[in-house]
Amino acid sequence: MVNASGLFNRFSCCYCHFVARTARVSPAILRLIARSAWHAWTLEDLQTGLASEGVNADFSSIFRAAEKLTAGGEVRKVVLDDGRARFELAGTHHDYLHCTACGELIAVPCVIEREACSALEGKIGIAIAEHQVVLSGLCPACRAAEVA
Ligand SMILES: [Zn+2]
Ligand SMILES: [Zn+2]
Repeated sequence: MVNASGLFNRFSCCYCHFVARTARVSPAILRLIARSAWHAWTLEDLQTGLASEGVNADFSSIFRAAEKLTAGGEVRKVVLDDGRARFELAGTHHDYLHCTACGELIAVPCVIEREACSALEGKIGIAIAEHQVVLSGLCPACRAAEVA
């Protein structure tokens, strides 16, 4: 027979442990990506970056912290064609160019005008809440390297 109160204590301990770890990892992720010019942090990048700062966190803690930051609007998540998420510091809306040479995500000014969205909504009877456009090509540095 399962001891109900024992079960509860075990879950509650796990939960406290989880919260404590996430509470430590989330601000460390924010600090890390705020300091860097890079916009295409994978979970693996975050883990490596945190480790280099002495914050050793397991993969699931980093995953949970990144999802929590995304849900809280502090971080924006972009899922690319390879199926892996990239994380960047949230800011005003912009679209993206994914560089096929170096893997960076370059912020580009929004490529869809509000009028175009409104026209589309009227035309096919939809309501657009948000969008995220990812162009693919070369970033300025890789383009310059190719031309040189
Ligand atoms: Zn590039
Ligand atoms: Zn846009």
